[in-house]
Amino acid sequence: MQAVKIPREKTVELHETAVPEPGKGWVRIKMKASALCRSDLFRYHGEKVFDDTGDESYITPGHEPCGIVDKLGENVTKVKKGDRVAVYLALGCGVCEHCLSGNTVLCSSFRCIGFALDGAHADYMVVPQECCLPLPDGMDYITGALSTDVGGTLYTACKRIGVNANKTVAIFGVGPMGMGGVLMAKAFGASVIVSDINEERLALAQKLGADYVVNSVETDTVQEIKRITGGKGADASIVCSGANAAYNGALDCTKKGGSVACIAETHNVTIDPSRQLINKRLNVMGCWYFNICDWEELTHFIMTRKIPLNKISTKTYRLEQAEEAFYRFDSGMEQKVVFVWD
Ligand SMILES: [Zn+2]
Ligand SMILES: [Zn+2]
Repeated sequence: MQAVKIPREKTVELHETAVPEPGKGWVRIKMKASALCRSDLFRYHGEKVFDDTGDESYITPGHEPCGIVDKLGENVTKVKKGDRVAVYLALGCGVCEHCLSGNTVLCSSFRCIGFALDGAHADYMVVPQECCLPLPDGMDYITGALSTDVGGTLYTACKRIGVNANKTVAIFGVGPMGMGGVLMAKAFGASVIVSDINEERLALAQKLGADYVVNSVETDTVQEIKRITGGKGADASIVCSGANAAYNGALDCTKKGGSVACIAETHNVTIDPSRQLINKRLNVMGCWYFNICDWEELTHFIMTRKIPLNKISTKTYRLEQAEEAFYRFDSGMEQKVVFVWD
């Protein structure tokens, strides 16, 4: 079979490798859709996402997968051959408080598919049966893949910051995560304001339902959000750009006592906690991925609200075009880039 490798910075290769055999309790999945993620680009640029994953150069990337169960290892009881599944990206110890509560990503022995072990940018992958997320009938494979990282993260963030039909939500940055935020917040009934520096992205956000779009190059975003909300500020904000201005904009435009979900990864933001957080009694929370126990309600929400998550995918590629796919995704010209098989 073929598998993508990133042996060196900005080097994407397709390797011929043996089709993996599922071990005890594991299953093999024939891939149907595998989305590229911003975190794949860290590897593409020679940077590490997790400190403790060791040498990643020959680990197949891809942690937003969807496909068909193709072979079962011994003692597999939870899935069967032919099941359509998405894949939960986290492996944990299985017994700590976080694993038992479904938040495997918080486990101290958490390992991430596509970083610590081979991921989904390949014809086949093997995963523990516990990582298989059943795909509802009628959900296409691209929507399935995007329901994990994008859908799951933004659904969970919206719930945590209390998004509903009475709320105005500001979203900073409309790359794929922000775009997922627009779709989810609209599905919860909220009024949505988005801010970005890219006109094309703002146009797509509007097409996907954003009520107001603000080009932050031309307009003072915080002032504009205050104006739209009658001086009060947004009830909640979602930060989907790692820019200093995005983090600060969210803290400044959110009303007193409001909530801010931080999603965009960054190590370099300067804020004024007294003025921006404490005096305003803001609820600021870090949001990353989702609780595995929420998969059923998440996909039910996506299906019943007919949320077109697949519209966030602006380009699909075959695995053979991996080099072009990474290059194109890295250029920022596309939203989600997804490998597809047929
Ligand atoms: Zn991802
Ligand atoms: Zn654990």
